[in-house]
Amino acid sequence: MKKLFLTLSIVLLSACSGTNFSSSVPSMPVRIDISILGEYVHFTPNNAGAYLEFLKPPKKYTEAYGYAGVVVYVTMDARYVAFDLCCPHCLNPVKPCRMDNGQSSNAKLQTGIYAICPTCGEAYDLSYGLATPTNKNLKTKEALRQYNASYNSATGILRIVN
Ligand SMILES: [Zn+2]
Repeated sequence: MKKLFLTLSIVLLSACSGTNFSSSVPSMPVRIDISILGEYVHFTPNNAGAYLEFLKPPKKYTEAYGYAGVVVYVTMDARYVAFDLCCPHCLNPVKPCRMDNGQSSNAKLQTGIYAICPTCGEAYDLSYGLATPTNKNLKTKEALRQYNASYNSATGILRIVN
């Protein structure tokens, strides 16, 4: 019985991994280290809707920004999530989705809810970390490709990888 429980736990854990689902967006390396205690002190989990866009080409040789660029987002339930900015419907890496600019009470932060495709106009809703398409008039079904975001409170580094 104990062994069965252990097996189940492993299955459940791997099911939670962000990059396990298949996406139309091609798999490309992702590696971004965001220093929350250093460079991005305002990008904290209590600032729901805050985002950082990482558009190609990477600024550091140690970084990789996926297929079309990466958006890192703070969800309404205070989690960090990360997605490729490539629209899974258009699959155009040189015309990435861009975040809408909402009103922020903190001038040092950009906040938004939707990643909008400049080609088809699809709006992907990032608010609860799903990045699902919202435009009922379009035939888009697929969410943005997700990457893993993990925060290490000891180092103050938020690491984005695939
Ligand atoms: Zn599109």
